[in-house]
Amino acid sequence: MGLPAFISRLFRRGTPAARTQPAALLPHDEPMMRRAIELARQAASLHEVPVGAVVYETASGRVLGEGFNRREVDHDPAAHAELIAIRAAAATIGDWRLSECTLVVTLEPCPMCAGLIVNARVGRLVFGCRDPKAGATGSLMNLTTDPRLNHRVEPIGGVLEAECSALLKDFFRALRRQK
Ligand SMILES: [Zn+2]
Repeated sequence: MGLPAFISRLFRRGTPAARTQPAALLPHDEPMMRRAIELARQAASLHEVPVGAVVYETASGRVLGEGFNRREVDHDPAAHAELIAIRAAAATIGDWRLSECTLVVTLEPCPMCAGLIVNARVGRLVFGCRDPKAGATGSLMNLTTDPRLNHRVEPIGGVLEAECSALLKDFFRALRRQK
């Protein structure tokens, strides 16, 4: 390959379908985050780490799937809020491709969920607080904007961040008190 082709490969941003969508906050994002926070509270009431997620149709704001962390009750290491919400949304629309959808989640996705976001071609990703220990959309790594993968989504973090992080802090504080 000649130098111009090499340089163009270096800077290639992928096919139009795979191109990152502009990461701007939309009017539905914050109300959806409030719903995700409610779902996270449901998780806490079951003694699950409080994380909640909603998938909605980006254009209409219609909720397609919801989930909260259910690892303990389901005895399932994969039962993360995002995975449950994504599966529910795909079942609702009858399509595994969620390119017209937005995933809203209270905590930055882990590597498993970030991988699923790429595989499901999720169109937009909005999260509440960062996860410095396991976050895979900016903290430890950035799977959803890796140019080597065939789908990219620019995450929007920090939406209702204080509420989302307070949920987790309160949960772990209460847990320590019980011990
Ligand atoms: Zn996860």
